[in-house]
Amino acid sequence: MTTPPTPDTYRALRVIQDGDEKRAELQTLPLSELPEGEVLIAVSHSSLNYKDGLAVTGKGILRQWPMTPGIDLAGTVLDDASGTYAPGTAVILTGWGIGERQDGGYATLARARAEWLVRQPAGTDAAWAMSVGTAGFTAMLAVMALEDAGVRPGHGEVLVTGAAGGVGSTAIALLSAAGFTVTASTGRPEEEAYLRELGASGIIGREEVPALKRPLEKERWAGVVDTVGGETLAGAYASTRTHGALAVCGIAGGTGLNTTVFPMILRGVSLLGIDSVTCPRPRREAAWQRLARDLPASRLADVTQTRGLSEVPALAPQILAGQVRGRTVIDVN
Ligand code: NDP
Repeated sequence: MTTPPTPDTYRALRVIQDGDEKRAELQTLPLSELPEGEVLIAVSHSSLNYKDGLAVTGKGILRQWPMTPGIDLAGTVLDDASGTYAPGTAVILTGWGIGERQDGGYATLARARAEWLVRQPAGTDAAWAMSVGTAGFTAMLAVMALEDAGVRPGHGEVLVTGAAGGVGSTAIALLSAAGFTVTASTGRPEEEAYLRELGASGIIGREEVPALKRPLEKERWAGVVDTVGGETLAGAYASTRTHGALAVCGIAGGTGLNTTVFPMILRGVSLLGIDSVTCPRPRREAAWQRLARDLPASRLADVTQTRGLSEVPALAPQILAGQVRGRTVIDVN
């Protein structure tokens, strides 16, 4: 393990408040600007998620300014006052409020609590970890939740909504690796070849996951990974097969849920909540180990683009507009 020297300053993309306006700018800062935490990390890569799009464009998820967004980071430990990690250890940090309530990964240095970190799985690197990022980690938690609820590959089609997005794309790859038959729901029919390459065997339009018309629709889905919410989730829930389950991840299409209890009490259907931010550590480590096995870098290559820190302000509105395909790794150096 080689430990890079600790620099005197670091570079960060900061969201600052300027009168009524919020804007992002690159700044060079002294180490005294870093938040509290036992572990000092030399960040090499971060990633771009929907939440980062909100933070960078000043849309609501930040409560204080200035703030360094970036809900994911990967890098090397420079110093750990808790004694948990030797200098030079490669670590991953996703969630726990970084990039929201505490400075996150859009910087060359970060400070964090030791208990939040996960060791980089053997045989992987920081670019791979950020290609997975919160989106891939969330997709893994969703697949594990479906499996824990008893959904098995032989049971029938598993629906993935918001399929061409970060969570959706990685969910397709993970489900396919686990032997499930995957149907992808997308508003971008031009992405069909991409979705099939990831492992989807069926492609349907957004409008084909119907908004709720009846409490119980014809049974179709053995399981669902939903990143869209709203009417899409209500429609998928009404069409889920007896003893099937839905892993509820996202709100890309809405936060409401207008439905009834009938799928639960007449079909034994389960709604499973997925929260990647506060996921407990043993589950976190198990998910990252399985991601290293099922989603190797070669599988992610076509899903991933790598961009620089200075490009993030231009990319942020694009992810909010649903124009970013798959995953975007941010090389912060
Ligand atoms: P992306 O923007 O990459 O993907 C979202 C996808 O949803 C889009 O690509 C699009 O897919 C679809 N979509 C977008 N707008 C609409 C709309 N109005 N109606 C229907 N579908 C729409 O985001 P992520 O994959 O990173 O995140 C997806 C969701 O999951 C977000 O809401 C995010 O906040 C949430 N999330 C939750 C986490 C958790 O811990 N629970 C962790 C990470 C993310 P297509 O073009 O294929 O239709």
